[in-house]
Amino acid sequence: MLNRKDLLGTADLSKEEILSIIDLAELYSRDNIDNANNTGVLRNITQINLFFENSTRTQVSFEIAGTKLGANIVNFPLGNSSQSKGETLLDLAATLNSMFPDILVIRHPNSGAVQLISEKVKCSVINAGDGNHEHPTQALLDAQTIRKRLGKISGLKIAICGDVAHSRVARSNIFCLKKLGNSIKVIGPKTLIPKGIESFGVEVTHNMFDGLQDIDVVMVLRLQKERMDGAFFSSEREYFHFYGLDERKMQYAKPNAIIMHPGPMNRGVEIDGDLADDINRSVITQQVEVGLAIRMAILDLLTAKHPLRKNV
Ligand code: ASP
Repeated sequence: MLNRKDLLGTADLSKEEILSIIDLAELYSRDNIDNANNTGVLRNITQINLFFENSTRTQVSFEIAGTKLGANIVNFPLGNSSQSKGETLLDLAATLNSMFPDILVIRHPNSGAVQLISEKVKCSVINAGDGNHEHPTQALLDAQTIRKRLGKISGLKIAICGDVAHSRVARSNIFCLKKLGNSIKVIGPKTLIPKGIESFGVEVTHNMFDGLQDIDVVMVLRLQKERMDGAFFSSEREYFHFYGLDERKMQYAKPNAIIMHPGPMNRGVEIDGDLADDINRSVITQQVEVGLAIRMAILDLLTAKHPLRKNV
């Protein structure tokens, strides 16, 4: 059980909480592979998905996770909603609160917006990504994918490569993986590495060849142009040459190192297409599979004390 109303980030999760989520997800993961019947633990629970920013895998994953557990799911239609008529976030929160949902899953382009809503509603809120701040379910699914593939989730050398400055995935992963006892290196051009990131306990390098030496896990980030407000690199071609993960650079990592990417991927920009498809090293599709189990575990744990679950 998680003794908290919301899941807003990994920064405030304890190591024990992280492990309890990934342990339960391991069970759901096996059930999903065996196509076992879902447990119906979320029967009577209403889950509203509110995605203010485009999403493919995260939104669908939360929808399937809730459905598998028996929840009533409402996908809030933002295109036609009062948000497009200028309603403030706080008014929207008050409106939603009056409909008595049990869980809100929210993605928003502004850092901190999800927390703001969570403070105004009684139900549980799950952050499905807010600006460049946090994306906790991505970090948790990454941790579980690493454990599944390498058999452990501590004492590893992990490189996070590319556009760290605009990445909520990088921040959530740094908090989560540090707490689990791993050492983290961030690698990218100076323009895409936030100043002072060393204060999070990570090492910084601007050279992929140096940075990837002896690494167990290579996490590649997308160039998040939608959050860039100027020129951060000269061309995609040049970016790929220096920072795109390809066979030549990958040779510097450990021979059994794995390759991760949160998706959506830009082939030939931050990662070479053949490397992304190499099932012996790339775990990118496994990340999506594990994501479903992680979201099932979180929905289950956050609602464990809900009165509507008493009879289940
Ligand atoms: N899907 C991830 C996110 O929502 C990563 C990305 O978009 O590049 O942050």
